[in-house]
Amino acid sequence: MVLFDTHAHLHFEEFDADRPLVLERARGAGVRRFLTIGIDVETSRSAVALAEAEADCFAAVGLHPHEASKGTDATWIAFRQLAASPKVVALGEMGLDFFRNLSPRDEQVRAFRRQIRLARELGKPILIHCREAHAEVLVILQEEGARELGGIMHCFSGDAEFAKACLELGFLISIAGPVTYPNARKLPEVVRAVPQDRLVLETDCPYLPPQPHRGQRNEPAYLTHTARRVADLLGLTLEEVAEVTTASACRLLAIPPP
Ligand SMILES: [Zn+2]
Ligand SMILES: [Zn+2]
Repeated sequence: MVLFDTHAHLHFEEFDADRPLVLERARGAGVRRFLTIGIDVETSRSAVALAEAEADCFAAVGLHPHEASKGTDATWIAFRQLAASPKVVALGEMGLDFFRNLSPRDEQVRAFRRQIRLARELGKPILIHCREAHAEVLVILQEEGARELGGIMHCFSGDAEFAKACLELGFLISIAGPVTYPNARKLPEVVRAVPQDRLVLETDCPYLPPQPHRGQRNEPAYLTHTARRVADLLGLTLEEVAEVTTASACRLLAIPPP
């Protein structure tokens, strides 16, 4: 079995004390592909460094909507340079977060559009962070022609209707730890409504631990809990879910399948 953690922040300082052990535990649990995601220039740089050091680790460079007000011409130049690494397989995370509004909305929109255009220049798929901004994200993806790039709706939090709109844009739907929470209602419905070959899995570690680890630091080894829940919802085995989700992620990101 080979699981793909399509959204992790393994280069974050939360893992500085024990990163090799975290990776070892993940591999032991069957997680053998990692996409580690930058949220600004500095963390994108460390994501690329980690991906260059670990064969099964790949990187994405991007400016998170929380950090959108940091975006300057120098940011886009840095991303372009970092994306020259063969281990950079996507741009992101990018998008809109109208829940926390840590950057002004107009700056979030500007940074989001700018990164989609950069992804187009570089010919790479995009990783979307979307919170309480579903309609606005859809309009921007449509207006910027994101269909031609493809990408992943990371930590999907919408309903089945929003999922359908994302699928029509050619995007994959990424399921994170919240699907394992006992009070999850919409997410299990989404898992059943989305074609199996359009689903991928993620931890978003160190955040969002699945149910048995709530309150702890999340790590990629825990992806098995999310995968098992998805398997139960779909009436598949864990191995079948691993196979179909890993294949879809590898196809989108142009990573050779394991
Ligand atoms: Zn995010
Ligand atoms: Zn993230």
